[in-house]
Amino acid sequence: MRDYLMYINGEWVGKDLEKLEVKNPANGKVVGSVPIGGEIETNQAIDSAHEAFQTWSQTTAYERAKYLKKLNDLILENQEELAQIMTIEMGKPIKESRGEASSAATYIEWYAEEGKRIYGETVPSHLANKRMQVWKKPVGVVAAITPWNFPVAMLTRKMGPALAAGCTIVIKPSGESPLTAVKLVELCEKAGFPKGVVNLVTGSSSKIGTAMMEHDNVRKVTFTGSTEVGKLLIKQSADQVKRLSMELGGHAPIIILDDANIDTAIKGVIASKFRNAGQTCVCGNRIYVQSGIHDTFLEKFTEAVTKLTIGDGINEETDIGPLINQSSVDKVTRQVADALSKGASLLTGGEALTNQGGTFYSPTVLSGVDTSMVIMEEETFGPVAPVQKFETVDEAIRLANDTKYGLAAYVFTESVVKGTLLIEQLNFGIVGWNDGTPSAAQVPFGGMKESGIGREGGHEGLEAFLETQYVSIGMD
Ligand code: NAP
Repeated sequence: MRDYLMYINGEWVGKDLEKLEVKNPANGKVVGSVPIGGEIETNQAIDSAHEAFQTWSQTTAYERAKYLKKLNDLILENQEELAQIMTIEMGKPIKESRGEASSAATYIEWYAEEGKRIYGETVPSHLANKRMQVWKKPVGVVAAITPWNFPVAMLTRKMGPALAAGCTIVIKPSGESPLTAVKLVELCEKAGFPKGVVNLVTGSSSKIGTAMMEHDNVRKVTFTGSTEVGKLLIKQSADQVKRLSMELGGHAPIIILDDANIDTAIKGVIASKFRNAGQTCVCGNRIYVQSGIHDTFLEKFTEAVTKLTIGDGINEETDIGPLINQSSVDKVTRQVADALSKGASLLTGGEALTNQGGTFYSPTVLSGVDTSMVIMEEETFGPVAPVQKFETVDEAIRLANDTKYGLAAYVFTESVVKGTLLIEQLNFGIVGWNDGTPSAAQVPFGGMKESGIGREGGHEGLEAFLETQYVSIGMD
């Protein structure tokens, strides 16, 4: 148990503030605490980021890359410690936490280089006495608000491009998993970023969020979290027309056609559905299987799910750790009860396992689900796989698109023609075709519809932290 602090203007602060305890969801034990900061601390952090912006934005992309590469090295050197902190504060199986720490580093490494490719444009003029240029500039101070389910990768996916673009940043991690964020910021300090370039505030989300939205000097808000909180921030940011990137919720469909390779499909569905105990925005939540392969798929899939090991994430063999808290267990319990009451069948799982202080839910497969059930409409965030049979591809497309979300979708088919025609009809920002884990630093990640605004990753992720300035030069 350690008392962690906030980081403002190059100083660790908040010792005298009230503390927010962080509990391990595997056993309910307190594993650390952070200060409960609010408006005062947030304004101090923004002011320090604003001051630092005046010089950081004037450094070259090559200088900024040196700091980012040092940070990349430090994340990799500290991969195990980051993974251990992540697992004890939010329950993720340790092997996944290690994977997240190394993938977090890729966002820093990739943007260190991509920052060197922020090109403007020279546009041919229609007049002989004019020259026309398009310049790119860092947008300014960035407020970054992140969720608990990827405590380090969601931060580096924002910090990498923001810092590479020449922006400075104020980070607010989730109160459920702030300790990994503190460790990451300790590594930023070690990497030698000038004071004020990276700041961290912890505590009251509504007070910190409101202060961020009301401060004139925050020019960009980058948020990852629920659609509900995203909508609130969109409204709050309207008064000052702040730039926004919104990575919000999802309810991903998985479509498995008759001609799919069944082993590839099962591997992909397990990877997508059960990663982080089903608590990711891109988890396959609605599994549609064509009638010809449906029964065989269900049998083999259920067998694979029963082999998943549930337990404390710190154990090497754990596949399914705890859910983040009791209300998540209650939500999943409610969704499963609703499906069963409306005629779904329980093939395995269906149990809340909360008797030893942990908040576990057993990996579950439901068959015979339909659109009347809440689980096919509401984001699940738990290890429950509902399977619905379909006959025609058109029916699958209609079912898949029938949602307010548009983040990720998955398609399993061996046919290039069928796969291409199907994916052309899907309204989702990311599609995994015979692939349950499509995300990477160099490609755009983000959603259509109520799943968000903008993209993170790839060159689009850098563009999100840049302003365009058109310069018309008179030559008379
Ligand atoms: P959440 O409740 O929306 O919280 C996200 C962040 O917003 C946390 O830091 C939270 O702080 C903060 N927050 C809450 N209320 C706020 C307010 N009024 N003003 C400012 N900040 C506020 O989401 P979550 O439960 O942490 O994460 C799960 C959600 O994130 C799911 O919907 C998931 O799909 C989505 N997600 C999306 C992506 C993506 O890339 N599209 C990736 C991962 C997760 P506190 O926790 O301290 O209250």
